[in-house]
Amino acid sequence: MAASTADDASSPSVEFVTRAYVSLLIAGFALIPAYLIAYLYVFQNPLLIFENHAFHEIAIAAATLEGLFVTYVAWRCYRSSGEPLLRWLTLSFLGFVLIYALHGAFTGMAHHNIWLFLLYGPASRLAMAALLFVALLSWYQRADPEAQRRDPRRWLGWIGLFLVIDVAVGVLAYSPIASSPAVRLAMEGGALVLSAINIMVMLTRRIRSPLMKIFGISVTSFGLSSLAFILSRPWNHMWWLAHAIFAAGFFLLSYGVVQAFRTTRSFATIYSQEELMTRLADAMARTENALQELKRTNQKLERLAATDPLTGVANRRQFIEQVEAEIARAKRDGAPFSLLALDIDHFKTINDSHGHQVGDDILRGFVQKCLDAIRPYDGVARVGGEEFMVLLPQTALTVGQSIGERIREAIAGSAFAVQSGQAIPLTVSIGVSQFGRDGDTIDDILRAADERLYRAKHQGRNRVIAA
Ligand code: GH3
Ligand code: MG
Ligand code: MG
Repeated sequence: MAASTADDASSPSVEFVTRAYVSLLIAGFALIPAYLIAYLYVFQNPLLIFENHAFHEIAIAAATLEGLFVTYVAWRCYRSSGEPLLRWLTLSFLGFVLIYALHGAFTGMAHHNIWLFLLYGPASRLAMAALLFVALLSWYQRADPEAQRRDPRRWLGWIGLFLVIDVAVGVLAYSPIASSPAVRLAMEGGALVLSAINIMVMLTRRIRSPLMKIFGISVTSFGLSSLAFILSRPWNHMWWLAHAIFAAGFFLLSYGVVQAFRTTRSFATIYSQEELMTRLADAMARTENALQELKRTNQKLERLAATDPLTGVANRRQFIEQVEAEIARAKRDGAPFSLLALDIDHFKTINDSHGHQVGDDILRGFVQKCLDAIRPYDGVARVGGEEFMVLLPQTALTVGQSIGERIREAIAGSAFAVQSGQAIPLTVSIGVSQFGRDGDTIDDILRAADERLYRAKHQGRNRVIAA
C-alpha cells in the first residue's frame, strides 16, 4: 500500500511537463484549421472554383436547422441554471441563425446582387463573435432570477434587433458602398478580432472548466473561419473550407451545450476528470475514516456491553458465553473445566456500617485479589451485586477446589484499607463444580456450584465446598 502510494505520487516536474503537454495538445488541436488554411493558401490556385448553388442552399439549410436545435438546447439549459453565460450563448446562436439563414436564402441572388448574397455571412459571424465575447465576460456572474429566465419580452426584443440587422444588411447590399472591399473586411475582420480577444481573455483569466475549453476551441475555429473568408473569393476552395471550419466550430460548441444539457445544465459546474478524481478520492478517504470510526465505536460498545462498569471484569452475559464456549471445547477434547461461585460474606453489614462508597471500593479490591490468585487464562465475572464466578479451563474439581482455597485465603488474609484508614476484614464463601462430573449443561454446573456455595454459607461462611 505504502509502496504504491509512493509510486503514484508524481514529482512536481513530471506534473508540470504533463500539464504543459496537455495544454500544447489542446492548442494544437484548436489550430488544425490554421494548417488547412495555410495548405490551401500556399498550394492551391485561388481561381479554382466550385459554384454549386443547390449544394450551398442545402448546406446553409442544414446549418440553420442545426443552429435552431442548439439554440433550443442552450435555452433549456439557461432556463434551468439561469447562468448568464448560457443566456448570451443562446442569443449568439439565435442571432447567428436569424442572420445567416438569409445568406442561404439569397444564394440564387449571387448573380443579381452578389453583396445581398455575401454580406449576411460576415454579418452573422460578427454578431455571433460579439455575443460570444459578452458571454465570456459574463462567466461566473450570479444566476438570473427565475422570473427573468421565463420573461419572453427580452427574447422578443433581441429577435427584433436581429431582424433590424437583417434589414440593415439588405439596405447596405443595395447601397454604393457595398462594393467596397472594406465593408466585408470590416465585418469579417471584426469577427476575427473579437474571437482573438475572446481567447486572450480566456487565457488570462485562466478559465479551466472542461466546457469552457470546448468554448475556447470553438471560438478559435470561428476566428479562423473568418480568416479563411478574408483570404477567399466566393465559391473558391478557401471559401468552402471557411464554411467547413465554421461548421466544425459550431458542431463542437453544440457538443458542449448538449453535454451541459445532459448533466448539470450549466457551463460552470461541470467537473473535469481531474476534479472528479480529486473529489472521488476525498469522498473515499472520508468513507474510510467513517468506517474506521464506526469499527472503533463498535468495539467500544461490544466491550461496554460485555463488562461490568464498576470492576471492569466480564458481566453475567459475557460469562455465560465464555462457559458455553468452554463446554463446546470440553466436548471436543474431553478436558474437564471447573467453576467457582463466590459470594462475599456479610457484605450488607459492611455497606451499612461504612457506606455504599466504601462497599464499592472493597468490591474493586476484591476483584483485584481474585485476579492475582488465578492464572491468566482463567476468567472472573461479576454476576450479581457481591456475587462473582470464576471459570477455570482445563481444571478438574480437586484443582478447582485448591484454587478456590487460594482465593479464600487471599481475601481473608488481606486488610481492605479504606479512606478512614480503618482496615476492614473480609471473607468469602465459595462453591466449586466441575463440567462432566456435575452434569454436562450450563444449568447443571451453575446449579451445583450455587448449591455448594449455599452450603458453605450455612456451614459458617469463609470456606470452600467442592462436593
Ligand atoms: P451473606 O452473603 O454472607 O449471606 O450476607 P450478605 O450481606 O453479603 O448478603 P446479601 O445478599 O443479603 O447482601 C448483599 C449486599 O450487597 C446487599 C447490597 O447492599 C450489597 N451490594 C450489592 N451490590 C452492591 C454494589 O454494587 N455496591 C455496594 N457497595 N454494595 C452492593
Ligand atoms: Mg449475595
Ligand atoms: Mg453476600
